[in-house]
Formats: sequence, structure tokens, C-alpha cells
Amino acid sequence: VAAAPPIGTAAVAALPYQDPSLPVPTRVADLLSRMSLDDKLGQMTQAERGFVSAGEITSYRLGSVLSGGGSAPSPNTASSWADMYDAFQRAAIAAPLGIPLLYGSDAVHGHNNVVGATIFPHNIGLGATRDPELVGRIGGAVAREVAGTGVDWNFAPCVCVARNDRWGRTYESFGEKPEIASSMTTYITGLQEGGARVLATAKHYLGDGGTTNGTDQGNTDLPETELRAIHLPPFRQAVERGVASVMLSYSSWNGAKLHGHRYLVTDLLKTELGFGGFVVSDWNGVDQIDGATGLSATDVRTAVNAGVDMVMAPESWKSFISLLRTEVQAGRVATTRIDDANRRILTKKFEYGLFEKPLTDRSLTGSVGSAAHRAIAREAVAKSQVLLKNSGGILPLATAGGKIFVAGKSADDIGNQSGGWTVSWQGSSGPITPGTTILQGIRATVDSSTTVTYDRTGSGIDGTYRAAIAVIGETPYAEGRGDRTGSMGLDSEDQQTLNTLRASGVPVIVVLVSGRPLEISSHLPDWRALVAAWLPGTEGQGVADVLFGRVPPTGKLPVTWMTSASQQPINDGDGKQALFPYGFGLTYSSEPEDTTPPTAPGTPASSEVTASSVKLSWAAASDNVGVSGYEVVRVQGGTETAAANATSTSTTVSGLTANTPYTFAVYARDAAGNRSPRSATVTVTTSGGGTGGGCTASPVVQSQWGGGYVMQVAVANPGTS
Ligand code: BGC
Repeated sequence: VAAAPPIGTAAVAALPYQDPSLPVPTRVADLLSRMSLDDKLGQMTQAERGFVSAGEITSYRLGSVLSGGGSAPSPNTASSWADMYDAFQRAAIAAPLGIPLLYGSDAVHGHNNVVGATIFPHNIGLGATRDPELVGRIGGAVAREVAGTGVDWNFAPCVCVARNDRWGRTYESFGEKPEIASSMTTYITGLQEGGARVLATAKHYLGDGGTTNGTDQGNTDLPETELRAIHLPPFRQAVERGVASVMLSYSSWNGAKLHGHRYLVTDLLKTELGFGGFVVSDWNGVDQIDGATGLSATDVRTAVNAGVDMVMAPESWKSFISLLRTEVQAGRVATTRIDDANRRILTKKFEYGLFEKPLTDRSLTGSVGSAAHRAIAREAVAKSQVLLKNSGGILPLATAGGKIFVAGKSADDIGNQSGGWTVSWQGSSGPITPGTTILQGIRATVDSSTTVTYDRTGSGIDGTYRAAIAVIGETPYAEGRGDRTGSMGLDSEDQQTLNTLRASGVPVIVVLVSGRPLEISSHLPDWRALVAAWLPGTEGQGVADVLFGRVPPTGKLPVTWMTSASQQPINDGDGKQALFPYGFGLTYSSEPEDTTPPTAPGTPASSEVTASSVKLSWAAASDNVGVSGYEVVRVQGGTETAAANATSTSTTVSGLTANTPYTFAVYARDAAGNRSPRSATVTVTTSGGGTGGGCTASPVVQSQWGGGYVMQVAVANPGTS
């Protein structure tokens, strides 16, 4: 093995792999030919920063080091991260072949392990924006912050399709449909090509969001056709975008652990989808394969033979290396498999220019938490707000005059509004990192003629306030601690705050800070307005921007909002009666404010279209007063013909012709049986069926209820024709 000259200097390259003018495959082949088995085993190994020394990185030639959730140098600042990184990297390139390491971290909503970084909304909020371009820009901003600390590799995005809101990682998902997760893979392009070059990771492959009861690390019990239809599309899209790595899921598919699943990892991901990057295990994920605690020879052999290229073995990395060495020497893991894993990892190291520029680009360090990035985050926060109720058009609030009361445990709490994976793994309440709380955003928005009073519990409110804003919801959690098995309602502190506010008679506007829908149907009638803020991150100003109408609400639900937790899993198209359907989200009407008592029939939940019939359904609005039934008419060229009457909130209109557009209006009837002025219209196009009997309503349409509600018809249930 020849010694390498110093890297990153202008010295003439002595060996082909050190010559940046040569094509990457040539450099990889040259380097591989110079590597011993131990060099190759080291490349496949990822240790955690707290469990490895610089000396060990050199002597074991480790390919990668990571920071686990919340694992940071002291002090936890961008420049000390860069110093830490450079020290590790210098140790890596001091080994004979001078192969730089990849440093990985979970920057899942901004560079969240670093105090002072810009914290963006968690993915569920980004899903609500329906704005892939914005998400791509966020990827670019995150890349600059990440690269500014030296980190080369981000364990993001999570492209899981969360099908059960009981799952504690629901907020890491862009939404419940494959389409929404696929569309947001622009994040990958932003990270990898949006300014600074950071390797992205699509995770967690495959079916992590589909486990029974939403159990984290559970079992996804699905036929292969459904696994492919629901959970695979975002990974396919990620591969098309050239994602550098894919992380495996702790979960199982039909009882078999993903970490040992050769069919899904090698045959499907690498061969069928053509994934050219490398597969990394999850934290100690390989240990779980044989069902026994700790890393065994079976675990290692099964994982590597299944197609795992790099093993995240945070503390047990030495044992991983020695177990794998034994398996290779005994011929139970082929050297061709080891070479393939190395080729994949080294290809990315060369492509990302690591050999030429192994140390931190300090010109980017100042971008951590920069004003420019915070502006992007604020934009994302505003666009992620979903207006779910706005009775009497109480929102937007005027910025001038009168008194506003702000209450609730998350009104003035950066930690709560950021959620899990912020500074620490599980996140925590309190002023954990610089930012703007929602309360501060509100104060900064109103003018001097408005008084803003804050009390966390609501105490001190009286009838003199024009509005009370209650910022309530969930406190931070991450994987392992976020699963909910029973009810999913508001905690007792929130309920008490709401009781105090209600007793004052002041109209209550609820801003729900949560990682997922909560059970709120019993409270909703008490609330004049409801905004789902998700987990907005450090830029609470974006919430105030929408409350006061600086930015109109445009967010749409990325998940179906349950009426009750007993409905979980509840997803679009499954026929369950949602409180708010997937895609729902009100806007501020430009119409003059409606002063008549609300009689809106409510929010249509879903429709199913077949070649000959369409099933329309909607939900009764909480402020639905005196409605005795509904009338559905077909609208054609300005005239209406009776289509159906309904006493419940759904009806099927039949006798339709395939491949024809139909517009229907749904009217509420008042107690006397008269048509209410409130109605909703929707246009659907029946389809002829096609393979598998799939029928679609196309395009997805939205329509205003007279009261400002939006009716959305998404895709019909495939197979219903
Ligand atoms: C999580 C991954 C994460 C990894 C490294 C695991 O516990 O499941 O999403 O990337 O830790 O921090």
C-alpha cells in the first residue's frame, strides 16, 4: 500500500485515485485496487462521535462518524462543530490511503443538533405547504448550515408515508399519501445541489409509516402490491433525483426485518429501481435481525448479504469490524459484496469532492442561523398554517385597536414549537435555542394601539378583550416516546386554559402546535377559529403573519383529521367520517363578512367515483345550526337538476356516464326544509375504470362552501368500478 501525499494541496497527484481530472469510476477502481480487507471493512463502518477517538479513526480507517440525536461538541456552536469535524477528518486522512470520512447528522428540520441553527417546520408542516419549490430552497439553506459545520451527510429527508397518526414519527412525514412525499423530494435536490453539497438520505426504507397500530419499529402487514403502491413511490422519486444514500427502517415487512431483507434492499431498491448510492443501516438496526440483544455474526452476515453497505454501529463498531472480517474470511460474505459496498461509498466521496476539499468550508459557518435562512423558514411557517375553522370571519385579526389576550403552554416556548429532534434527541420545552416565539411574533405584528396581554394559563382574562389566542397542543417527543395507544386528546393543562378562556366569553382562536392531528371534536364548537400550526420551529413570526393577515392562509391538510382516535388509521378514501378531510384548508374570504348565523353544511370528506356513480360525502360543521338535511343537484350550463336528497352526510349519485365531467352542488336544508344559502359545488370526471378498475376524479377540485368552507374531491377508491 502506497502512502498518499497530503490531500487538499496543490501538489501534483501521485496516484490515479488522487487525480481529480480522472473520471470517478477510474478513481474508485484505482483506490479499491490499493485497499486491504481492513481498509474496506473500515469504509463500511460508522461510529458515533462519543464512542471513537481520533486515533481510532486513523488506525481502523473508519469510513464514517455520526452525531446521534443531540450529540454535539461543547460548546455547542457552529464553529466548535467545524473544529470537531476537522479534527476527525484530519485523523481519517492521516491513514495510509488518506480516504476522507463522511460525517453524518440528523438535520431533519434545519441543522437541529446545533444551538443557533435555523429550525424549519417539521416535515408534516412542509407537506401542508404543498410547495415543492419552497421545500427545495429549504434543502439548499439546510445544506449551507450543515456544510458550515463540516457535516457532509444529512440523514434526511424522511420520505415515510405516515398512515396512522398514533405513530410518534408522524411529524417526520410529509403526509399520508405517496404523492405528497414524492413531491417533496425536491428537498433532496436542494440538499445535494442547492448551494453547498451535502449528501441526502431517503429514510426509512421501507414501510416505516405503515406499521400496525402505528407502532414505531413495528410490523408493516401489507400485500406487496400495497407496499409498492403506498410506500415505494417516494423512494423511487428519491432515486430518480440521485439521492446519495438510503437508510433502512427498523420495521419489518410481513414479519421480516428490513435490515436483513435481501429482496427489498438488493432486488427491489438496487436492481429494480437502479439505486446507485449506498444503503446505511439505522442506529443499531443490524443488531435486531436475529432477535437477540447485541451484534452477532448472524446479524452482520445477514445485513451485508442483504445489501447493507454501511453499518451504523455507534458503540459496537469494533465488534462489527471483527465479526464481518470473520464472515468474509470464512467465505460467508463474498469479497465481491464487500467491493460493491466500498465502490458505492467511495463513489459518493469522490463525487462530492471530499478528496479535494476534506475540511470544513468556513465561509459557510456564518450562515448557521442567518437572517436569510430565517426568512425562508418564516415563509415556510406561514405557508404551512392550515386554517380549519374561521367562524364569522374572525380571522384575520386587525393589527390596530383593542386588547388581545394570548395564553397556552406553547405561546411563548421555542422548544414546544420546535418539537422533537431539536438540540436534543427528544426535544424539550423552554428557550433551548434562539428564535421568535409565537407570542413574540404577535407582539411584533400589532401596532401601538393594540395591547397584548399574556398569561400562560389564561388567568386575568376578562370580557374587555376582543380576542383570545390559545396556543396549545403537544409537547416535544421523538421516536420511541411519541407513540399514542389510547386517546389522542388535549392534555389537562390545555383543557384548563381553555376553560378559563371560555368563562370570559371572549372569542377564542386556537393555534394548535402539534406533530399530528389531535382529538378536538368535542372542543371545536367552543372555538371561533382554529389554525393547525404543526411544529413550526424557531420562526414563530410566520404564525402571526397568518393570524393578522400579512400572509393569507394557503396550507392544506397533509393528513386526514380524525373525529376520534378510535378511527386510527384514518386516511383519504377509506370512507371513514373525518373531522376535516385530507387537503382541507380554508382561505380568508375576500367576500364581506357574513353576519347570518352559520348554517354551512360542513366539510365534505371524500368522494368515490366509479364509471356509473359518484359517492359524495361531507362532514357536519361544528357550527352547523338547525340543518335538517341536504340537497344534491347537478349543475349544467347554469341550471340545476335534482340529483339526490340526503339526511346523512353522504349520498351516491348514480346513472352517470364514464369519462364525463359532472358538477354537483350540495345545499344544506334548514329546519323548515328550505335551502340554505350555503352550498358547495364540486366537479368530478368519471373514468372508465382502466386496469384494476381504477377510477379517478380528475383533476382534484376544490370548491367554496358559501361560508368559506372548501370542498375537496380527491381520488376515488381504485377498484370500485
Ligand atoms: C433514527 C434515525 C436516525 C438515526 C441516527 C435513529 O434512531 O431512527 O432516523 O437517522 O437514529 O441518529
